[in-house]
Amino acid sequence: MSLSRVKWSRVRFRDLESIGNYDSPDAQLGARERTMRSRWEDIMCFIESDRLWPPVATVHHKFDPAFREVLARLPQRAFDSVLFRISFIVEDPSIGMLAVNVPAPVCADSRHGIDTIVFYHTSWKLSQGALVGLVAHEIAHSFVRGKDYRDDERRVTAKVCSWGFGKELAVLRAEKLAMVQHKRPNRPTKRKRPTSPKTETVT
Ligand SMILES: [Zn+2]
Repeated sequence: MSLSRVKWSRVRFRDLESIGNYDSPDAQLGARERTMRSRWEDIMCFIESDRLWPPVATVHHKFDPAFREVLARLPQRAFDSVLFRISFIVEDPSIGMLAVNVPAPVCADSRHGIDTIVFYHTSWKLSQGALVGLVAHEIAHSFVRGKDYRDDERRVTAKVCSWGFGKELAVLRAEKLAMVQHKRPNRPTKRKRPTSPKTETVT
């Protein structure tokens, strides 16, 4: 199957979506359609993954279509690079994100890059002690690997306490709780993530 059968610059996401949603099994599709369905599946998997945080499909109604459109139209080599080398974070003030630890993508040769930790302006509302707890917490995410989000958080807590930041972590917990209690009641619905996010929110 030749990837050159598809002129990606002329493709639109809606074209991929209609082929992706066909009932026909792959075997009944031509090479061009199979290539397009494969691109659609890759895009949908990417959007569901931790490489894009928070999940755009549920939160970023405006960003989501633009993001899908670009991924649909990128040349194949550029698209492959995005899959293996780039993570995306979109700030959504309604979630009240404090910080996120973005895991390094695994390259084709299995080498890991470096994690990136982003602190949001919401975290400036914390006291100095709580902020110390938050920084330690986010760094600890780079040192543990749990089976899911809850397991990740448990391991992070243990790691942070073993480093001697237990007191600051308790301050952080108390201040996060206070922030949640002051938030408006109509919080966005959160969808279960397929893998473990490393994000601290006040929600
Ligand atoms: Zn965490």
